[in-house]
Amino acid sequence: MNIILLGPPGAGKGTQARRLVEERGMTQLSTGDMLREARSSGTEMGRKVAEVMDRGELVTDEIVIGLIAEKLAGDAGGGFIFDGFPRTLGQADALGALLERMGQKLDAVIEMRVDDEALVARITARSTCGNCGEVYNDLTKPIPADGKCSKCGGTEFKRRADDNEGSLRQRLMEYYKKTSPLIGYYYAKGDLTGVEGLGEIDEVSGAIKAVLDA
Ligand code: AMP
Repeated sequence: MNIILLGPPGAGKGTQARRLVEERGMTQLSTGDMLREARSSGTEMGRKVAEVMDRGELVTDEIVIGLIAEKLAGDAGGGFIFDGFPRTLGQADALGALLERMGQKLDAVIEMRVDDEALVARITARSTCGNCGEVYNDLTKPIPADGKCSKCGGTEFKRRADDNEGSLRQRLMEYYKKTSPLIGYYYAKGDLTGVEGLGEIDEVSGAIKAVLDA
């Protein structure tokens, strides 16, 4: 089963994708994670994308489609979860073509709906474990009092350079201008289902599970 998690920054796509990996053995493909990896490796491409990401703008379709094409060549027994990709109509067309060439298809596109003010509050409070990537939030899921990650015991936590209000406003603008047209695109294909993304993590997982098992 191949699915897309669609939604604005901070909607909880990464958190839900990690759950699906654990529960269903699916493979998470996050272009944001791939780009952060590229920038920390200091490659020419990494240097080019770092500034764009920090400004909260989208990197070019060519770069992200290339990254995804490389990963799709690998095996995903349990299917792929596309997290943060596609973000433009060009990327959506390219994904359709790549899957078709592999004799595969998209099974569902889940739109996670959260209002903007909640996103700002969520994102400015967000951090992740530097070791395993577990996501924490000062308001809803604080780092345990003993300072150790509840998943792996790691003691280093990171905040993303672009998780500040200025970058977030720009990322939201990019979402509405370039990514939200995908809602209509996938709706027209009959692939789209919306879920309320504002609830507790377990509630949102339950809503996603209901869509995937329908
Ligand atoms: P994310 O971790 O998904 O919030 O992505 C962080 C940043 O990486 C975004 O603000 C963009 O600058 C860049 N990025 C991630 N995925 C894409 C994509 N599919 N297309 C263009 N830029 C992307």
